[in-house]
Amino acid sequence: FNVPVPKNEPVKDYSPGSPEKKAVKEAIEAYRSVETDIPMIINGREIRTERKLRVSPPHDHQHTLGYFYEGDESHVNQAIEAALNAKKQWADLSWENRASIFLKAADLIAGPYRARINAATMLGQSKNAYQAEIDAACELIDFLRFNVHYADEIYRQQPSSSPGVWNKLEYRPLEGFVFALTPFNFTAIAGNLPTSAALMGNTVVWKPAYTQALSASVIMDVLAEAGLPDGVINLIFVDGPVAGEVIFNHPDFAGIHFTGSTKVFQTIWSTIGANIHKYRSYPRIVGETGGKDFVVIHESANVDEVVTGLVRGAFEYQGQKCSAASRAYIPSTMWPAVEEGIKQTLSKVKMGGVEDFTNFVNAVIDERSFQKITEYITTAKKADGVTVVAGGNFDSSTGYFIEPTVLKVDDPKYRTMCEEIFGPLLSVYVYEPNQFEAILDIVDSTSPYALTGSIFSKDRNVVERVTDRLRNTAGNFYINDKPTGAVVGQQPFGGARASGTNDKAGSSLNLLRWVSARTIKETY
Ligand code: GLU
Repeated sequence: FNVPVPKNEPVKDYSPGSPEKKAVKEAIEAYRSVETDIPMIINGREIRTERKLRVSPPHDHQHTLGYFYEGDESHVNQAIEAALNAKKQWADLSWENRASIFLKAADLIAGPYRARINAATMLGQSKNAYQAEIDAACELIDFLRFNVHYADEIYRQQPSSSPGVWNKLEYRPLEGFVFALTPFNFTAIAGNLPTSAALMGNTVVWKPAYTQALSASVIMDVLAEAGLPDGVINLIFVDGPVAGEVIFNHPDFAGIHFTGSTKVFQTIWSTIGANIHKYRSYPRIVGETGGKDFVVIHESANVDEVVTGLVRGAFEYQGQKCSAASRAYIPSTMWPAVEEGIKQTLSKVKMGGVEDFTNFVNAVIDERSFQKITEYITTAKKADGVTVVAGGNFDSSTGYFIEPTVLKVDDPKYRTMCEEIFGPLLSVYVYEPNQFEAILDIVDSTSPYALTGSIFSKDRNVVERVTDRLRNTAGNFYINDKPTGAVVGQQPFGGARASGTNDKAGSSLNLLRWVSARTIKETY
């Protein structure tokens, strides 16, 4: 049989009067008018505890959207047990039967659940309608459909045989359970990390970021309706170190599928290393971590393209993408025009809650992020050699709002040019055109990350040289485009160095990490 050849899910535009806009507005209203109850789901059962934690919109933090229930060690153990118990039946199921469940889940999100998952992402994670649509709807649908297609390609790959000998590769799931640890910033990533491992026959303990609890609950509803058997994916809300203590000491821990901070990933890696003798197999460690994504502009670039690329790349979803443009290198000959363009564009951008669809900028995720980002801005305002070109104001009285902020720095090694900030802050270094080669060395050496980056130039020789020079500085490299917005099936996503293990999400490279092949030789 052939699995359906996937096409990317078309992005709906939410224009005034459109049915999708009406549907999502109704879903927002529904979420705002009742308090949603969000239990953990272990072995298909809803688990509630004494510890009820509040969910609120980051742009309206006094409003209560609902509550989720925090678990402890015992729940982590229950989730592991449920995953291990569900494992044999799930792994023995023909892979096309597993695939059908995820294809159905994709169709459910594309249809009846689209408005709900978008509304949950908009309210819970403060994403505007467009950013929610390209994430919680389109990207998640694409992950589910494309992964089935890539899994099919993997399962078909077989070694050669000869007369009298039949060689086979059996793509077994990993032995044990997989732990999915997922971030707030993409509902699609939160959905992809547990489901991609499960598609390959694994069972999973899934711990989302608490700030993604609302849309996580929609993903679990979708999977249940699609027919995912109990225990295959178990959702827990447990404090990270508490969950880690149980999981990384468990003999059946088979792998982690992670997206989050470099620091947490490094801690996890060390813990796994320290416990390595406890495990039945070497665990698979797959992680996408931080970024300090660059935009290099050459004199030959088109100003309008640069301005659009910088504003969208740096400020969509408040810069809370691992891929966000956060440092730009601009020739002095172009800076006045680019500066003017950025200022003009930002003067038209509106900031506020997601309920008003004309707001381009919404709130950052929580108090902790707000504190971290604004500390960078406050310090920069006082620093020598740093000019605030745009924005710079913030206010957390009703929501965690930070203006899109552009800093011009005199030192290309200033902290905002090197450290990951994960917020609406773009730093610009203006260079003399004859320093271009030296700038490339700076781009390559001043941050430990290598996730995404862009070159803007109309000169083919320059494009070729920069593409070659920065070959290890980004896992996703863009020519004349912003460094965000990778599309599943088109730009497999991931970076190296401190940005992760580069097992490209939404590709066969990633799915291969969730199988452990057996070679079978039969002689007649
Ligand atoms: N894939 C997303 C993009 O290309 C970024 C993912 C992330 O932030 O982890 O913009």
